[in-house]
Amino acid sequence: MILPWEIMRYFPFLVEEMEKRLKTLLAQQFSTLAFARKADKWLASIKNKSIERQFAERRIVESHVFLLSYCDGFLSLTKDGGGIIIYVNSESKEKLQTLAHEIGHTFHLDLTKTPIENTIPDEWEYNRRNLEKDESYCLIEDFADTFGEKWLAINGKEKIEVWKQRSNKKVQLGGQG
Ligand SMILES: [Zn+2]
Repeated sequence: MILPWEIMRYFPFLVEEMEKRLKTLLAQQFSTLAFARKADKWLASIKNKSIERQFAERRIVESHVFLLSYCDGFLSLTKDGGGIIIYVNSESKEKLQTLAHEIGHTFHLDLTKTPIENTIPDEWEYNRRNLEKDESYCLIEDFADTFGEKWLAINGKEKIEVWKQRSNKKVQLGGQG
């Protein structure tokens, strides 16, 4: 996958298609997912917010880049279940896309509860855990990918780079990996 700003810079023939994708609301594209509208609303509000503030709004307390042997990344809850930790595979070429994708997954969580609860049906979650590529699993993964592209495009390279440098200093991205 190519980052939005790489498309802008190096692949002009893909720009029109990307702009069309970015303009399409998640609620239009994923009309069966109740949380898509909520994600659209949030995406419309983040342009002038720091990444830290966005993380706080999604109850993300940490992000780590680790060497994971089994996947590109995942979400985990803190011990008390009140916060979300994002893990990203340090070997993945698509670290930023994975980070953005995982933020997308916070939209099917009920962040008003402590511990945070998953709102998607148990059987979908079972399939996700077992990596069975059934329809519902693919739909949520598609949603998270589509959300991720929007999140990266709205925030832009500069804001994300600045945040990465700040978080490196705090031993976050790249911390203990
Ligand atoms: Zn996913």
